[in-house]
Amino acid sequence: MTTYLSSASVGVTPQLAIVVPCYNEQEVLPETTKRLLALLDKLVTDRKVTPTSHVLYVDDGSKDQTWALIHQAHAQNPAIKGLKLSANRGHQIALIAGLFAAEGDVVVSIDADLQDDLAAIESMLDAYAQGHEVVYGVRKLRHVDSFFKRFSAEGYYTLLNLLGVKVVFNHADYRLMSRRAVEAIKEYGEVNLFLRGIVPLIGFRSTAVYYDRSERFAGESKYPLKKMLALAMDGITSFTAFPLRMISMIGLVVSFSSLCMILWVLWIKFFTDAALPGWASSVIPIYFLGGLQLLSIGVLGEYVAKIYFETKRRPRYFIEELL
Ligand code: UDP
Ligand code: MG
Repeated sequence: MTTYLSSASVGVTPQLAIVVPCYNEQEVLPETTKRLLALLDKLVTDRKVTPTSHVLYVDDGSKDQTWALIHQAHAQNPAIKGLKLSANRGHQIALIAGLFAAEGDVVVSIDADLQDDLAAIESMLDAYAQGHEVVYGVRKLRHVDSFFKRFSAEGYYTLLNLLGVKVVFNHADYRLMSRRAVEAIKEYGEVNLFLRGIVPLIGFRSTAVYYDRSERFAGESKYPLKKMLALAMDGITSFTAFPLRMISMIGLVVSFSSLCMILWVLWIKFFTDAALPGWASSVIPIYFLGGLQLLSIGVLGEYVAKIYFETKRRPRYFIEELL
């Protein structure tokens, strides 16, 4: 076990690294670079961060000009750094690659489309200066998201909490982590890291800052429904075995009711002359139990799949180039 001394030393100006995963973000990147550099400039002038602070773009195997743009920005300003993954591995993995590669006393992760208000970074740094090791960016309102996205996201957070998974409500992956917090995350060996669930698990002093989320200023969402569902399923199966336990409980309840049903049927048969052809009472349980069994096998399958992927211990990503 490694012991980590607090890296949140009060009064010492920290070096900041802003990690930005990018997948086909050529439309937003120039503007993002401009805004991030302006922010860094201001933070350095205000002596909130050291002049060695920088932005680390993680190119998640983009197929467009994203990497070329990162190259160009790096040539113009060394405060822009880049890391290119060898293939598209998805937002979570790209984020992890960036967090693990980033140098700095504090690391802030943010999406390339800057939907999350940059001004919150300053508040995060203030919270860090007060000794917090993790600062969650939490969105105040979801009025810019579609009804579907808002409804599904809030329902999902509620479900996770009901299942006993500790997540911060309305927090995505916009957060500040101290060096110590990042090092703690590295100790989690699982290949499929669901950061929103893991970060609260590491403990340490944490707090939240609130901000308004705006619309993507260019380009399209890189999170289609399919990826969203995969991430949602990961969040559940990585953190709780409750669905498995639920199957056993439902199984118990159904078995008990069947027992009562058998007694009732026998009673009708032997003690009354009301024994009907019994269509409904035989057809309904067939559908019900069939559905229940398929659902249960599906849930078991989800966990088996998880074990299958974890036992392979496959590497999460490969870094192709580093700027
Ligand atoms: N992203 C990534 N790899 C992917 C998909 C997305 O690195 O396979 C990045 C993307 O470039 C962006 C962030 O993850 O910086 C969040 O994606 P997006 O803004 O499209 O998601 P939304 O805000 O619509 O949920
Ligand atoms: Mg976005």
